Amino acid sequence: MSRYAYVNSAFVPHRAASVHIEDRGFQFGDAVYEVWSVRDGHLLDEQGHFERLYRSLDQLDIRFERSQSAMQVTIHELLRRNRIREGLVYLQISRGVAPRDHAFPATNTPPTIVLTAKRFSFSAAGRRAEQGVRVITHEDERWDRCDIKSVNLLANVLAKQAAREEGAYEAWLVDKAGLVTEGSSTTAWIVNADGELVTRPLDNHILHGITRKTVVAVANAMSIPLIERAFTPAEAKSAREAFITSASSFVMPVVQIDNKMIGNGAPGSLSLSLRDEYLRAQ
Ligand code: PLP
Repeated sequence: MSRYAYVNSAFVPHRAASVHIEDRGFQFGDAVYEVWSVRDGHLLDEQGHFERLYRSLDQLDIRFERSQSAMQVTIHELLRRNRIREGLVYLQISRGVAPRDHAFPATNTPPTIVLTAKRFSFSAAGRRAEQGVRVITHEDERWDRCDIKSVNLLANVLAKQAAREEGAYEAWLVDKAGLVTEGSSTTAWIVNADGELVTRPLDNHILHGITRKTVVAVANAMSIPLIERAFTPAEAKSAREAFITSASSFVMPVVQIDNKMIGNGAPGSLSLSLRDEYLRAQ
């Protein structure tokens, strides 16, 4: 079966899909993106991801005229053409194609839109959750506007690669104050000795995770106390439980940070019930 992508206003075979060499996303990383999980043909946390997309565009003053409902129709058509009912959808929107100059191009430059979809097995991810994953800690070398979901992911890429080279699933980024900000592509959480959930408050130093938002609502509904504050790697290593959240990993238990086993080295019970409840809430 051929795979399709969507570029600007056309569905094109994935292998032939391309953008111009002068695209500002390629030249400057002048672009934003979003990711949705697809389960049973539905986009998970659909509204939250759209809201963050339009906020990212607004923060960077990228003029994107298409409405959310138009984009929803296009995404579902892409899923239909690719016959995907379980997978991931990626959307990138750049400031468009223009002769190379750091400053913004003419305001009538149309943004470039790229949509891709791929199959992804959530049951395989579920099996990983039963084992839990390892994370390493890594210096946070990113800029000060991590709240914008920009395609500028070089520091995240280097941190993830460092994790992979150590056989770990994720890197937890540590800022200059010695506090964990988030994972290279996930939100970081711990459960302290009192059974309270701890995660960093929303500010410009982290991406405002959409899965985080739903997990906060789920935790509230389960009457699990939540404290929004930053924590150190040392505190995380002595936590009762640790886990990460993201659109593609949902709630993923962390069983080891650097060389330190978390709890008894098995996924924490609270982490696993939050995962179940998160999926039930969808
Ligand atoms: N933090 C970073 C840096 C990310 O890239 C992501 C997801 O891509 C997240 C957190 C989790 O965000 P979400 O739950 O919206 O997927």
